[in-house]
Amino acid sequence: MGKVLVIGCGGVAQVAIQKCAQNDAVFDEICIASRTVSKCDDLKKKIEAQGKSRSKITTAKVNADSVDELIALIKSVKPDVVLNLALPYQDLTIMDACLACGVHYVDSANYEPEDTEDPKWRAIYEKRCKEQGFTAYFDYSWQWAYQKKYKDAGITAILGTGFDPGVTSVFSAYALKHYFDQIDTIDILDCNGGDHGYPFATNFNPEINLREVSANGSYWENGHWVETKPMEIKREYNFEQVGMKDMYLLHHEEIESLAKNIPGVKRIRFFMTFGQSYLTHMKCLENVGMLRTDPVMFEGREIVPIQFLKALLPDPASLGPRTVGKTNIGCIYTGTKDGQKRAIKIYNVCDHQECYKEVGSQAISYTTGVPAMIGTMMVMTGQWKGAGVFNVEEFDPDPYMEALNKWGLPWVVDENPVMVD
Ligand code: NDP
Repeated sequence: MGKVLVIGCGGVAQVAIQKCAQNDAVFDEICIASRTVSKCDDLKKKIEAQGKSRSKITTAKVNADSVDELIALIKSVKPDVVLNLALPYQDLTIMDACLACGVHYVDSANYEPEDTEDPKWRAIYEKRCKEQGFTAYFDYSWQWAYQKKYKDAGITAILGTGFDPGVTSVFSAYALKHYFDQIDTIDILDCNGGDHGYPFATNFNPEINLREVSANGSYWENGHWVETKPMEIKREYNFEQVGMKDMYLLHHEEIESLAKNIPGVKRIRFFMTFGQSYLTHMKCLENVGMLRTDPVMFEGREIVPIQFLKALLPDPASLGPRTVGKTNIGCIYTGTKDGQKRAIKIYNVCDHQECYKEVGSQAISYTTGVPAMIGTMMVMTGQWKGAGVFNVEEFDPDPYMEALNKWGLPWVVDENPVMVD
C-alpha cells in the first residue's frame, strides 16, 4: 500500500518498525534512518532473517536536527508518511521537512527544546508559564502553530500516537463516543509493575524520562491548570493483574490536548506508579546535579550532566530480557449518559516477557511502538484523514481501537471501576 520513513531506531522505534513489518499489507516499504546507521542495519537484518515480512526495508543516515538533511532524505526515499520516533527535540525540524516535501507527519511526543537555557526559547516559555499556569518544558503550542501551514499544504500531522499520549487519548474519544453524553473527569493511570532487577534504570530514554518525572506536577480543573510540587500528590491504587501500587500525580502532555478536545471536561489528572527506591535514586541524582540539562565544564571540555548519566545507565532497549511483570495503563471516566451518572475504566494490561518473546523489547517500548505503527497505518490507509495538525482524539476512535485488539494491545472496559479519591 505505501512507504513509511521512520526517523529513530531506539527502543520505541524498534517495536514500531517490527510491527510495520508484520503489517506488510499496509507497509510495503520501510526506510529506517538515524545518525547511527549501523543500528538501523542491525534491525533490518534481524527482520529479514526472520523471513516473515514482505516489506522491503532500507536504511539511511540522517541527523534530524538538520532540516536540509531531512529534506534530502525525504526527497530520495519518497515516503507517504514520516514517522518521527527520534526525540522530542527533533519534532519541529521534522515537521518543517515534511511541510517542505508535502508528506504526512506522525509522532509520539510533543516538542521540547534540548537546550532549555536558550534565551529565545526561554522568553516564550516564561510568558507561557505565566499565561497558562504550568511550567513543563514541553507543550503543544509549538506544533499546533503549524496548523495553518499543514492545512494550506493539504497534508496531515498526527501528534502523540504512543500509549500516553496516544492510546489514552483514543480511549477518551471512544468513551465519549460510546459511553457518555458528557465526560466530567478523566484520571489517567500509568502503572508499570515490571521489575528489571537493576537498582536504577529508566524504561525509555533516560533524559526525557527523568526530565518529566523530576518536574512539577499539574492537573486541569475547572478551566485552568493547578500546579503541584514534584511528587506532591500520592495515591494508592489496586491495579488489575498487578496489585497495589503507589502512584504520583505528574504533568503530562495529553492533559493539554484533552482539555481542548473533550468538551466541558472539568478535571483531568495523570498518575504514574513509582517505587520508593526509584524515587530515592532520582532525588539523590537531582540533589548532586546529575539531572542538569545545561553544559558544565569537566576536565577542559563541556559535558551535559544528564547526558553523561544516560551513558552510565542501562540502555532501555537492553531491559527486555530481564524485565518481568506487567503494565496496566488506562483511564477512569466519570460523567453522564442519558441523564444518568456513570463511571467506566478502559485499560490495557501488557506482559513484559510476552513482549520480549514477540519483538525482543520490554512492555514500555511495546506499548508505545504498537500505537505508533497504528497511528501511521490510520494515515497510510486514509482511515484518518484531514489537512492540518491533529491530536489523536480528534479522529474516529473505532478503527484505532479495533487495531489495538488486533496488533497486541487488547483493552477492557470496566463499568464498575475502583475510583481514585
Ligand atoms: P531512544 O533514546 O531509545 O531512541 C531515540 C532514537 O532517536 C535513537 O535511535 C536515536 O538514534 C534517534 N535520534 C536522536 N537524535 C537524533 C537526531 N538528531 N537525528 C536522528 N536521529 C536521532 O528513545 P525511545 O525510543 O525511548 O523514545 C522515542 C520517542 O518516543 C521519544 O520522543 C519519547 O519521548 C517517545 N515516547 C513516547 C511515549 C508515549 O507513550 N507517547 C512513551 C515513551 C517514549 P541516533 O542516536 O543513532 O541518531
